Amino acid sequence: MTERVITLKSFFEEARAGRLTGIRCTGCGALAVPPREFCPTCQHRGWEPVPLSGAGKITSFTVIRIPPRARAPEAPYAVAVVKLDEGVSMLGRLVDIPLDTLKTGLPVKFRTLVAEGQTAIAFGPA
Ligand SMILES: [Zn+2]
Repeated sequence: MTERVITLKSFFEEARAGRLTGIRCTGCGALAVPPREFCPTCQHRGWEPVPLSGAGKITSFTVIRIPPRARAPEAPYAVAVVKLDEGVSMLGRLVDIPLDTLKTGLPVKFRTLVAEGQTAIAFGPA
């Protein structure tokens, strides 16, 4: 059996190109994103890449008003846990959504945020 390795580096390279890729455990079928070494469900270490739609809904969110110094000019901004349509949840920055309209259940869509050469996971209006 061949196992393809999706590293965090290739995950972010894909993300920068606008593609969100999860991984599915070849042991128990659990879906994970971003990639990790061992399956949190069964401790198996074999994954296959799964393209994700990037569509989901906000499960919870926090408005950051006093950020780390490097991000001070961006404050206030929101960070949310988004449950993707595929059933897996991930953390991301919220962009282009007025903070006072944020609520749980709001549909959002994956996008990338590239700042100073770093690619970050973000979600914008669906
Ligand atoms: Zn597993």
